[in-house]
Amino acid sequence: MSRKAELTIKFLVIGGGIAGLACAIALRRVGHRVVVLEQYSDIDISKMSHGGIRLPPNVSKVLFHWGLERALRQVSITSSAIEVKIYETGEFIGKHYWKEEALRETGGDFLFLHACIISSPRITLISSFHPACQSPASTTAVSVSGDGPRVTLTTGETLLADVIVGADGHSSIVQQAIVGKDVIDAAPYQSLFYNTTVPGALMRADPQLAPFFKQPVETTFVWLGNNRSAVAFRMGGKDEFALHLWVRPMQKGLSDDDCWGGGLELKDMRRQLGECEPKLLKITKLAATPACVQVKMVPPIEDWVDEHGRMVIIGEAAHPLPAGSLQGGAMAVEDAAVFAKLFSHLRNRDQISTFLHAFQDLREDRCASVMHTEQCNLYFQMMPAGPRQEQCNQEMRARTAQGESVFGISEASEQWEQLKDLWGYDADNEVDDWWVKWGLLRERAKQRSIAMETEMNTARLRSLYMRA
Ligand SMILES: Cc1cc2nc3c(=O)[nH]c(=O)nc-3n(C[C@H](O)[C@H](O)[C@H](O)COP(=O)(O)OP(=O)(O)OC[C@H]3O[C@@H](n4cnc5c(N)ncnc54)[C@H](O)[C@@H]3O)c2cc1C
Repeated sequence: MSRKAELTIKFLVIGGGIAGLACAIALRRVGHRVVVLEQYSDIDISKMSHGGIRLPPNVSKVLFHWGLERALRQVSITSSAIEVKIYETGEFIGKHYWKEEALRETGGDFLFLHACIISSPRITLISSFHPACQSPASTTAVSVSGDGPRVTLTTGETLLADVIVGADGHSSIVQQAIVGKDVIDAAPYQSLFYNTTVPGALMRADPQLAPFFKQPVETTFVWLGNNRSAVAFRMGGKDEFALHLWVRPMQKGLSDDDCWGGGLELKDMRRQLGECEPKLLKITKLAATPACVQVKMVPPIEDWVDEHGRMVIIGEAAHPLPAGSLQGGAMAVEDAAVFAKLFSHLRNRDQISTFLHAFQDLREDRCASVMHTEQCNLYFQMMPAGPRQEQCNQEMRARTAQGESVFGISEASEQWEQLKDLWGYDADNEVDDWWVKWGLLRERAKQRSIAMETEMNTARLRSLYMRA
């Protein structure tokens, strides 16, 4: 059972993506009132969700803890291996298996599912189990202010709340209101990310592609290339294969594509493929209409909380990861878990601003470090051809020849320790530590100063009374 807040307040969450929905669920669990404002309808969102999403152990663990394990497992596939190939030739470089006992230590699993299942507000897996997200149909916020705090809608209507949460992704209006500019929009893009799916039946019907479905364990396929990379995996929920493709655009005129929902012509994606192994080429020929999003390396955003201490950004709006990152959804759900745990301690309104600032303090280093790791991973996946890339490939080939993990990850390795830190993150522990070290101290100091003030007032009254 989660601890319920002594004081219940109203939150307006702008954005019904993973961050907004997770935040609504988590806040409801600790007793707060939440309204989610989402600009798109469920049908629009499910049409706009073009591909697969990967949930690493640190996020599946939180969702399991919220009672969603059975539901999630019904619509997802658990992956326990990675196969690495060379993008241009298809050469097999090696494999890595996640050991069950090792994953158990983290408390979660690698779950792969269709993005529409997790990102649509009312048909979503999450909200169907937690009707936490009362969202008026397709509501767009046009302006926000921490003074009020208030949100103005396209209809001209103004909504008031105790706290506004900006879970409105990139081009976040809440981020712009806090920081004063659109940080993400202003950053240059380095590559393009294409997101699509391939019908499972079509792949199984092709003798060259059918083996992708006949692995002894569910496998993620990664192609490492010269300025290009691809990742493919089976998803739960639909009989489809997800395909993620990153390219440094060689061709001008395609750089304006930047929308998860923007249905592109398949030929636009295929034009960017460059030299690529025959199986990958075949997969892309069978693919559905892709979406294309710009991949940006955005420096950490300094302010997540507004000057009034009543408005905050979370998820992609606060710490944008490169598009297609493994940890994108995970960071959003961790944010929600930390945020709600802090607000489970709410006893009076004075604490609101402290909790919003504590949220940033607790999350910013973790998110910056994950952002850095994801940027490095992407660099590794699409390293330009040259001596460095060749050396990395040789090292992987050598490990495979010795029967080792392609990445050199063993339970005794330093990488495994780092992964355990990454996946073993426990939002509740983080907040409990903060509460014991700072939150309680602050409460006690406040109570002491109230007691001192009362004592002084009593003494003042007594002396006035004596004089009279
Ligand atoms: C339609 C869509 C499809 C996606 N598909 C995939 C996928 O297939 N694979 C993958 O790895 N990642 C996908 N992502 C990205 C992934 O969801 C995010 O990277 C990550 O999970 C962080 O989520 P978020 O909730 O912080 O932001 P987002 O997922 O960007 O959600 C922000 C939400 O806020 C809403 N919003 C923005 N401004 C306003 C406003 N002014 N008023 C009301 N609502 C507003 C948006 O419509 C959106 O639903 C998708 C994102 C979207 C929006």
